[in-house]
Amino acid sequence: MKANRFRSFRFKIVLYMLLSVAATIVTETILFFGIYLYEIQMMTGRYREIWGTASNGRISSSILSFNSLSGMDLAVLLIFSILLMILYFVLFSHGFVVYVREIIQGIDKMQNGNFSEEIPVRGDDEFSEIAYSINEMRKNLEETMTQQKMAEQTKDELITNVAHDLRTPLTSILGYLDLLIQKDMLTEEQQQKYLGIVSTKARQLETLIKALFDYTRYDKDKVQIKKDILDLNLFMPQLVDEFYPSFMDNHLTCETHFAEGTLNIEANGELLARAIGNLMSNAIKYGADGKLVEVYTGHLSDYAFVAVVNYGRIIPPEDLEKIFDKFYRVENSRSLKTGGTGLGLAIAKNIVNLHNGNIWAISGENGTRFQIEIPLVMTKS
Ligand code: ATP
Ligand code: MG
Repeated sequence: MKANRFRSFRFKIVLYMLLSVAATIVTETILFFGIYLYEIQMMTGRYREIWGTASNGRISSSILSFNSLSGMDLAVLLIFSILLMILYFVLFSHGFVVYVREIIQGIDKMQNGNFSEEIPVRGDDEFSEIAYSINEMRKNLEETMTQQKMAEQTKDELITNVAHDLRTPLTSILGYLDLLIQKDMLTEEQQQKYLGIVSTKARQLETLIKALFDYTRYDKDKVQIKKDILDLNLFMPQLVDEFYPSFMDNHLTCETHFAEGTLNIEANGELLARAIGNLMSNAIKYGADGKLVEVYTGHLSDYAFVAVVNYGRIIPPEDLEKIFDKFYRVENSRSLKTGGTGLGLAIAKNIVNLHNGNIWAISGENGTRFQIEIPLVMTKS
């Protein structure tokens, strides 16, 4: 926003001064003309009283008081003019002064932490420019403070969740270790059993810590990843093969529906495998009742997609958005043995963001579908 030269603050002051001078001149002219007329009337009356109607009632203007102004009169006139000019200047600049006060009040409010009110931007002089800049600053400050608050909240949440998830396995590790210390009271079989539990819980801790590292590592703002051109239609069959043992273990059938031709995208193969792998392991974990998992590839306008569909448990609509948040698990999965760290989808989302893609899910009677979309790369053939 740039102030117009003819509406600048300096121009306005000069204008107000000129207007005050003009208004003073007009006022004084009217005033003195009134006095002049009044005096003529008075003199003519007295003249007639003394001289009758001689000289047609006209009198010489030389006998009027205006023609005999003394130095004292001039001084009074000057003071009166100055006072009148000041009065006019105050009146003309009133609106402007009120506006400056409004700006000061706005700044005061900001100083007291009130960022919700905007200062009105009036006209286009330097002061409206100041008001505009203050409003912009207010907006930026408000945004930064909201972001800071959210970051603070997220940090608190993260610490609470991590503390909770670390404590649960740790408590049972400590409990079983206490039992194992009293070795003599335990049979060989019990010792082996407790050692097994301790080992499983310790691994859970290891998985959680690894997932936490991954989650923070794949934050879009922090990492620069190396990407290569890869064909999803070549990439996916290999990835599905890696899950073959898990499908078998969970008595699941996996059907693949790969699109024809090539689906070239720019991606980091390792990270993409991690993201899609998280969808696959979820489908296996949460779709075991459905007996069938389907994997699709294809393209939608400028995007290539991979979709993993499983059947069985439905994700309630209100949870669909939240499951991509870190540590979010659909209500009862925390207590179930299937419940993991709650970071799998958050990690997948971070990875997809690093590829400028989208990830979303739908869930209903027709199954639960998780889809990842990554921009297609058009290669010259
Ligand atoms: P992690 O993957 O870190 O071991 P998790 O599987 O609990 O733990 P996410 O992968 O982030 O965490 O999934 C979040 C929640 O979303 C899960 O707890 C589950 O309730 C739900 N969910 C995810 N995928 C599916 C799916 N295919 N079918 C049904 N529910 C799902
Ligand atoms: Mg998971």
